[in-house]
Amino acid sequence: MNARNQYAMQDPRKQYATGDTHYDKSQPDPGLDTKLSPQADHGEDSYQGSGRLQGRKALITGGDSGIGRAVAIAFAREGADVVISYLPSEQPDAETTLQQLKKAGVNAYGVPGDIADEAFCKALVAQTISKLGSIDILVNNAGKQQFVADLADLSTKQFTQTFTTNVFAMFWLCKAALTHMPAGASIINTTSIQSYQPSAGLLDYASTKGAITSFTKALAKMLIDKGIRVNAVAPGPIWTPLQQSGGQPPEKLDNFGKHVPLGRPGQPAELAPAYVYLASQESSYVTAEVIGVTGGEHLP
Ligand code: NAD
Ligand code: MG
Repeated sequence: MNARNQYAMQDPRKQYATGDTHYDKSQPDPGLDTKLSPQADHGEDSYQGSGRLQGRKALITGGDSGIGRAVAIAFAREGADVVISYLPSEQPDAETTLQQLKKAGVNAYGVPGDIADEAFCKALVAQTISKLGSIDILVNNAGKQQFVADLADLSTKQFTQTFTTNVFAMFWLCKAALTHMPAGASIINTTSIQSYQPSAGLLDYASTKGAITSFTKALAKMLIDKGIRVNAVAPGPIWTPLQQSGGQPPEKLDNFGKHVPLGRPGQPAELAPAYVYLASQESSYVTAEVIGVTGGEHLP
């Protein structure tokens, strides 16, 4: 078995640890990859670039950890200059990611701040332009997920914060970035299997993911007049800090991902190729689309 070689042909059920692993530890929100136990694979030792994004300029929200980190590493190894955004408390994760990006020989910058603030979203775009000069790829990947079992315990504050972080920030960032995006540019949003198969306990989160899927399709139709494509990736259960910091209750972390046909959680490294495809010109005829990377739970 070549657990961390994504190019060697192998049984995908056994490529990584199975759903029998005990994942019962938890950490405060936002979780850190540095504290994630067991550690996740972001393609650090495996992703091989082949110039598919040479010279492109990318902004990736939540690029410090999890899926965003794997996407950032892949984009850098494909030749893109990258800005990652993250919350100030995630500085240790951001530094680890930035080291990886710089090792790939591209320009890489981190911009900490809260995307739930419209003024910060505008400042993030302005800083990206001052550092990179353009935005050819915008990856709206940052997200908030907090499990609440009972409706009575789901506060208006949480409901509002989840929508502000997951949906409003995406709207503010797309709007601010658009004036800097040339024809050929690509917007990629991170939706979820939760958009299609919502879980009890993720009422607010699943609702935002439904909104992201619809937003993606409507925006794609709006922006094709400018030659800009808009698509989304829908991950299934992926082993990231989000899950270990309140995204699931600790008892649900045990056997995380075991229920999907592949019988195990996905790793962030397994998501990156879908984002690279949607970012690159290889997907020139693809817009208003959602690519599922779900371990077999499939989109409708
Ligand atoms: P993660 O915790 O590594 O990434 C989420 C990131 O969101 C954080 O690193 C943080 O930087 C950012 N973020 C959250 N709130 C923010 C705020 N207010 N301001 C700025 N940044 C903020 O976890 P992940 O699982 O890699 O999540 C990435 C995306 O994938 C999210 O949109 C999540 O909903 C989605 N997703 C994850 C899974 C999964 O199983 N892990 C499944 C489907 C979809
Ligand atoms: Mg993080």
